[in-house]
Amino acid sequence: MLELNLDNKDEFVSIEKSPYAQKGHSNLVKLWAKCPVCGKDVNNEKGQIVLLGKWEEDGEHNRHDIFTLTDKFDDYRIEFPENFDAKKDITVEFICPSCKSSLLLESKHNCNCGSPCFMLTAFSKSIITLCSRTRCKEHMLYLHKDDTWSFIRQIYTDSAQ
Ligand SMILES: [Zn+2]
Ligand SMILES: [Zn+2]
Repeated sequence: MLELNLDNKDEFVSIEKSPYAQKGHSNLVKLWAKCPVCGKDVNNEKGQIVLLGKWEEDGEHNRHDIFTLTDKFDDYRIEFPENFDAKKDITVEFICPSCKSSLLLESKHNCNCGSPCFMLTAFSKSIITLCSRTRCKEHMLYLHKDDTWSFIRQIYTDSAQ
């Protein structure tokens, strides 16, 4: 279980409360994501976020396969594994494909829906938390002050394409 370390609160701004959160902005931001444990990039060559997922279904334990998440913040598209029933409302344990660490956060950070959240590092020091339930859309970006310019560049360059 990972800790969500926001001890230096002054260094972070939750994106929902930030001046950059005007409607129609944050959803265009491309997230360069890393594993918070080993620091390796989890984006593939198309930029999508690729994670290993582990889930239980029909009493069958420890099914696991690759899940591909969009790299756009506020975009909920997921490419599910072929053997995963995407219509089901299932909690998936996401795992770093490089170091195989679980990305789940401690239960005190559970989503409003009650499911565990998992985290990734974004840009260099920002943190993104996401609900691990496949049909829940809760997520949060804590933008670190060192990443502000990367974030603004994303809004005004990539999003203009
Ligand atoms: Zn890792
Ligand atoms: Zn949730």
